[in-house]
This record gives sequence, structure tokens and C-alpha cells, in this order.
Amino acid sequence: MLVEGAILDADGIRSAYVRFRGGRIVATGSLGTDGLRGRERRLRGIVVPAPVNSHTHLGDAVSVQEPPPGPVSQLVMPPRGYKFRLLAESTASAKRRAIRAALRRMEREGVAAVVDFREEGRPGAELFRAAARGLAIRTVVLGRPLTRPIEASELEGVLAAGDGIGLSSSRDETSETRRTVARACRRAGKRYALHASEAVREPPERFLDPRPDLVVHLAKATRDDLVQVRDARVPVVVCPRSNALFGRQPHLAAMERLGLSMLIGTDNAMFHAPSIWRELEFAYVGTRLRHRPVSAGFLARSALVAPWEWLGRPDAARVAAGTPVQPLVVRLPAADPAYQLVTRVAEHLIVRLPPPPPEGDGARP
Ligand SMILES: [Zn+2]
Repeated sequence: MLVEGAILDADGIRSAYVRFRGGRIVATGSLGTDGLRGRERRLRGIVVPAPVNSHTHLGDAVSVQEPPPGPVSQLVMPPRGYKFRLLAESTASAKRRAIRAALRRMEREGVAAVVDFREEGRPGAELFRAAARGLAIRTVVLGRPLTRPIEASELEGVLAAGDGIGLSSSRDETSETRRTVARACRRAGKRYALHASEAVREPPERFLDPRPDLVVHLAKATRDDLVQVRDARVPVVVCPRSNALFGRQPHLAAMERLGLSMLIGTDNAMFHAPSIWRELEFAYVGTRLRHRPVSAGFLARSALVAPWEWLGRPDAARVAAGTPVQPLVVRLPAADPAYQLVTRVAEHLIVRLPPPPPEGDGARP
């Protein structure tokens, strides 16, 4: 199969053709230089690295009703907020089914990896693993120990079941808890992440100490806060729809201008469908409502390039022969590819490729 149009990847945007055989790329090149190979299937489109949804709480998908009125801090506050009551009232099998359905939906939309904050201790992380079994989507499960002060055995158990720890926020956790968790993650070679400055501003001196591998939100961060995050070289995941539901907006244009490493995620599955494409379009349009427009190119990178770098797989962010993760082909005009990608992708425009040969390291990114 020959796709003629454009490539958008870690190396930028260019007119190109991409030749696939058996679901994998065998050649790329400049348009018009491919030669004609018999009865090869040809189509026009854009080829990109497969997108990553960099922040979800898929366990929440067990309930998908309109949120009740009230501040988000109360709705999602552990351990007794609305969300945690719903999780506690739902059976393990209902949560497992909801997570699996959400993962399958993401697969249909071309998403190749997801970074999930999984509450409910070690059983929560194990439940997620069970829900993802046999699916092609790669999963990064950041679990959360329940006991405070931290109990070493519980923390070790959560780390054994998942890929790291995702804490609520520096407001909700003592510095001792954060230190203990970060140290254990380092020792285990796993990741430490937390929410920061979502509903109210939190000082970077708190959420950057100890240094996390990832922060989520920064909707209330000041320009100086963003500079500190950039200088600490900590990537940020933004969740524009989730923030907007509660009247907030992260300053994406400032993040772009300051040169932060920005990733994008869909946050609580009880409030938003885990669609990375809807998230991108909302982010693009939403920043224009406030007259601080972010570029389509920066947004496209936040879903297609930056997360692969964060995952330690920069080779997956390149559309080239030998790329370890099957890229995505979208039937869209090749004019202005970044704009097409952030505003126009829909499931029916995604070209189904034959499954690629296994990577050799299972479903882990
Ligand atoms: Zn979150």
C-alpha cells in the first residue's frame, strides 16, 4: 500500500509518500519519487506516529453521568469525594469491563499507548492490568497507595503491580509522603507523577520537590511557575476539556512560547470520553476563545511526539522504516497537516492496517 500526502513526526512536517507492506513501513520518500509498482493500493493521506493519551482515570468510566454541581476538588477528592464513592460502590468486574471498553475505544481511534492514574491501591493496578490483557494498546499504570503514613509493604505492592505512582497533588500529600514515594519509584526504576495547580495554584517549590517525572494540569500556574517547571525539565500533561468543565483553562500558548514539554490527556473518564482527537480539537478552539491561541503544530506534537520521548521511545515518534510502533494513517488532505490532525480526525478516516508483527516486549511501551 502506498500513502501519498504528508508526514508529521518528530522531524517535522513534509510532503512525502509512505510504502507499507504487511502493516509495517518499508520505505518513505519525497512525493513523486516512488516509482509505480504494479497494482499497489494507493491512497491519499497523512501518516503520523500513533497518538498517546497521556493522562486518564479509566476506572471512572464505570459511571458516565453529568457531574453533580460543586467544586471539582470535592468531586474528585480522595477518599470520600463523589468519584471515590462511585468507585467504592462499583464491583471489580464492572470496573474491569468499563476500563476494557474504554481501552478498546481508544484502540479504534488509533491510540497506541495510555498513561493511567489508577486509584484503589494494589488491587486497582491489578484490575487495570487484567482489563488490558490481550489488547494491543500499551499501558502505563501509575497506581496509588492508600495508607497514610505510607506503609512500605503496600507501596512495594503497588509498584510491583504497576509502572509507577500517580499521586493526587502536593496539597493532598505531605512532603514526607512525596519523598517516600519518589524514592521508592527511583529505586524500582519506575515513574513518579502527580497532579499540580489544578483548582488552585500550588507553589512549584512544593510539587517539584522531590522532582517528579511528570506533572498533570498546571491550569492555575503563573508564568513564573511554568518557567520553573521548564527549567526543572519536568513534562506537563494538560487536560483542557476536564479543566473547562470546571471553568479553568491551562495557558497552552504560554507553555508553547516558553518551550515546555507538553503532553495531552483526557483525564476522568466519568466526565469525558477518552478521545484524544476531541481533546485536541477542543484545545485548539478553546484557546482561541480566550485570545491566547496555541499552534496546531504544538498540539499535534503533544499527542504524537512528546509522549514517546517521555516514554523513552523517541524512535516511535518517527515515521520511517523500522519504527517500533505502527504509525497511523489518516485519510485527510495533505495541505496544512497539523491543522487537519487537530481539528478533523474522526474514526472513519483512520485507515485500518494489518496488525504489525509483535514488538518482542509485550504490551509495555
Ligand atoms: Zn487526573
